[in-house]
Amino acid sequence: LTRLYGPLTALSNVRVDVMSALVSFDRVFEVLDLKPGIAEKPDAVPVPAGSGRIEFRDVRFRYPSADQVSLATLEDVSTLDRTEQEEVLTGLDFTVEPGQMVALVGPSGAGKSTTSMLVSRVYDVTGGTVLVGGVDVRDATLESLRDTVGVVTQDSHLFHETIADNLRYARPGATEEQMWEALTGARIAALVRALPDGLDTVVGERGYRFSGGEKQRLAIARLLLKQPSIVILDEATAHLDSESEAAVQRALAEALRGRTALVIAHRLSTIREADQILVLDKGRIVERGRHEELIGAGGLYASLYRTQFTEAVI
Ligand code: ATP
Repeated sequence: LTRLYGPLTALSNVRVDVMSALVSFDRVFEVLDLKPGIAEKPDAVPVPAGSGRIEFRDVRFRYPSADQVSLATLEDVSTLDRTEQEEVLTGLDFTVEPGQMVALVGPSGAGKSTTSMLVSRVYDVTGGTVLVGGVDVRDATLESLRDTVGVVTQDSHLFHETIADNLRYARPGATEEQMWEALTGARIAALVRALPDGLDTVVGERGYRFSGGEKQRLAIARLLLKQPSIVILDEATAHLDSESEAAVQRALAEALRGRTALVIAHRLSTIREADQILVLDKGRIVERGRHEELIGAGGLYASLYRTQFTEAVI
């Protein structure tokens, strides 16, 4: 029997190890986003817990071409010659101090999403440095970076699993009480409580289908469970019904409180509240300041404001 069970037990232990490695490596859906060439150095150091400062120093970036990525091995993508590709960030310098909210605005294609992706090291810079908590993100352990930087995008991924499983990707070992607390903060607890299977409701294509606004609130619940000190937020441009919109706004206000936030901003209310607005155009910062100052300056921001900003959404 031992001979029979020995290997089986060993095998099931392997599975447990692999699963916990995956989960502790945070969080599968974020790991899936990592691009080729993003690897941890053998002598990587952790980002200090609770770090809230983001610094960009003369950051330049070109996307690798699709051919290069498919030809490259994991190791050599960083050494590829990308000079054929257009430079999409051409020397960004800015600092977000701990607890500040900085809004990125600018025309389509200006480089807002690219800038936000460099903070969580979805890609590596091709020049200059991105620092989180004083550590060059290329020198940081991936796990500490994932723990420090939380990302809420417009299309957060939900796995075809239960709501509880989806929440545990953000915090393995979260108790039911902690999950309800996060769902309450994200303004989605009442809806989950009303489902016949509650936290055990299976979601996704073949399960319960959440609306866009509900998915966003679940993403915010994940953020509240994970408690990162820095939040990267891509504000929704998709039209939500006004009730959903208001709920998402309240949930976000709670999720961002006390945290450093870098927001790709589409809402006037966010921009007005920002400690600093960075106006990007063709991969560079062309203006920076607060709303009133920038309106007064009469430059790109003022013209974006006139032509693109509607009452609530730009
Ligand atoms: P939008 O407001 O439309 O989302 P944005 O300001 O966020 O625009 P980015 O998405 O950062 O701009 O794009 C900056 C530039 O990089 C654009 O010229 C875009 O075409 C290019 N780009 C974006 N993603 C890729 C990619 N994966 N490969 C190659 N080029 C890309």
